[in-house]
Amino acid sequence: MECVHFNLRESLSEQLKRYPTEMIERVSTLELSFNIDGLPIFKSSRSHLWPILCAFHLNPISVFPVTLTLGPTKLKDLDFAEEAINDIQELLDNGLDGKKIRIRCFVCDAPARAMVKKIKQYSGYFGCDKCTQKGTWVSGQVTYPEVDNFTLRTNEAFRAEMTIRQENETAPVSPFLRLPLDMIQQFPIDYMHQACLGVMKKLITEWVRGDRKVRLSAGQINEVTQRLLSLRNAIPNCFARKPRNLEDIDRWKATELRQFAVYTGKIVLKCILSDQLYDHFMAFSVALSLLLCPTLAREHNRYSKELMQYFIEKTKELYGDHFLVYNIHSMVHLSEEAMAFGSLDACSAFIFDNYLAKLKRLVRSGRKPLVQLVKRLTEMSTSPLSVVASKSKTKRPNNAFTLAEGKC
Ligand SMILES: [Zn+2]
Repeated sequence: MECVHFNLRESLSEQLKRYPTEMIERVSTLELSFNIDGLPIFKSSRSHLWPILCAFHLNPISVFPVTLTLGPTKLKDLDFAEEAINDIQELLDNGLDGKKIRIRCFVCDAPARAMVKKIKQYSGYFGCDKCTQKGTWVSGQVTYPEVDNFTLRTNEAFRAEMTIRQENETAPVSPFLRLPLDMIQQFPIDYMHQACLGVMKKLITEWVRGDRKVRLSAGQINEVTQRLLSLRNAIPNCFARKPRNLEDIDRWKATELRQFAVYTGKIVLKCILSDQLYDHFMAFSVALSLLLCPTLAREHNRYSKELMQYFIEKTKELYGDHFLVYNIHSMVHLSEEAMAFGSLDACSAFIFDNYLAKLKRLVRSGRKPLVQLVKRLTEMSTSPLSVVASKSKTKRPNNAFTLAEGKC
């Protein structure tokens, strides 16, 4: 395993210089979140890049690396995170340039979260790190049929359990326990992985090539695709991608799945998907839309949770009980995350995703990939960030905007 660590205090100071001085003077607390993920960098090799990234929650958000590790697909221990943990603790103790440091959260997908917290993987019994529901074995996998009959995990219970584990030396505990973190709440379920790349992709895949009961005909798939393509001219440039062919689903990126789940799906599926399947999808879509909206996520939190509970219960009826794996179950916890952080986008991996893709592009050959990465990152300029107010456009489809009083 090869590892490169960038001193967090120095990196933060460097990043701060990129913001206008008057903006920095106004803030007394600097809020950070972190991302830990495994990234395959070559198709032909089994080695993974394990970056620890930090995001600075100012406007605009800036993302930069703390530690870059090149290692196997599965890491045996968390030694690579030691220096990052020490740096975070030092910053929490001493602040930076007279400002306090606050940790918002650690964003990871489910396998990485289990690795970082040293807990059971999501595919095992008791695999949910948010509740203590025991899974049920169905068709060769663990499923979670309960939507409200379970106890939520707490930081206190988690830390107590880890103290016992440490005393009995039954298994190693997470080095992140050293930090003053809420080990449950500050490790949120990431909706980019769970809802977009997970649930949304699973549903579309079922409609395209799933069981006969829920599969669309070739003609219907074509009709949905035509509708999607006809929307391309109506998608403003705040979206990274335009809709594309439904049959390309295996290549859809998280941002395309998000667009389908929240915006286009409800239009293009109407009167094509059966009423039952459409209503079921709408429960998911509306709940997700509410939880993504900073003004509605808390106001309609209870309603969003009920919609997700309905969505999970109906999933069993429409797609079969083998469908209720951890991925679908995790939807029941999204309302708690939105409540804690204000909206799902405030604690998601989307902000780190672009940076991870950029890291991958920086590696151009298989020879000493880590050296290449560090070299290119150092070469990259740390130019000032452009903080500009958004402009109003007059041409379609970018000419729609909301006025202060809420009118479109
Ligand atoms: Zn759970």
